[in-house]
Amino acid sequence: MLFDGHAHIDSEEFKGRVEDVVNECNVIVFNASVDFNSSIKTLELASRIDNLFPALGFHPEFVEKSNEAPKVLDLLDFALEVSEVGLDYYWIKDRNLIMKEIEILKNFLEQAEKRNLPVVLHSRGGNRDLLDLLPSYKVRFAIHAFEGSAKHARAFVDLGGYISVPPILVRDKVRAEAVKAVDLAYLLTETDSPFMGSEKGEINRPCNVIKAIQKIAEIKGMKTEDVEAEIEKNARRFLNVSDWFELREKKREKIENYLYTRRSD
Ligand SMILES: [Zn+2]
Repeated sequence: MLFDGHAHIDSEEFKGRVEDVVNECNVIVFNASVDFNSSIKTLELASRIDNLFPALGFHPEFVEKSNEAPKVLDLLDFALEVSEVGLDYYWIKDRNLIMKEIEILKNFLEQAEKRNLPVVLHSRGGNRDLLDLLPSYKVRFAIHAFEGSAKHARAFVDLGGYISVPPILVRDKVRAEAVKAVDLAYLLTETDSPFMGSEKGEINRPCNVIKAIQKIAEIKGMKTEDVEAEIEKNARRFLNVSDWFELREKKREKIENYLYTRRSD
């Protein structure tokens, strides 16, 4: 089974064809929300698509509307994973906003620990701060679309974290070095759809996750199907799931109740 641990299928790019895109192959998709609206959209998608699971978070790029973050925190009862949260020092340069990013991230990490939810983290320029911050929380975590050095990749793994790899790996030598440096047992795959495709400018889709797996297989000198099986095993360990079907039933019940009460309010 293919595993796309981080995608944004609620994006405009997939409007009207979400079901098609998610069912093009046999794939487990975690849809990561970025603000309050996309959190609601993520729950709606998760309630009607069997193989799509809800990850809820508040993206650090949206720190200027930080008043939405508590509203997303309130929805974490319905999440199977916390994402997308993290640190972005590439688009956000203002010192006060950066402090705010850190504060919001801490709130999400605290809740993730309390609820025993895994966290998938965004990091652009924030690796050092994350490495300082994460040891204070007892959470399972992965760095999504990891773009740092092999040294940082190993440092995250030393903290018990996972490195999540998108199809852009096929054209990115720095990412390839990180993949080489990390034991397969600590790698996950994702697409970050519609972003991070194997070809420049393409609208990435969950089934393209096979391209990341093929490249990992090439780097590790393994068979593609063996890497696919290992990654799925890692994903189950990361998410604490023995059976995707059971997880599906669990999310369905929770989310349907919530959406029902929301509609009747
Ligand atoms: Zn993302």
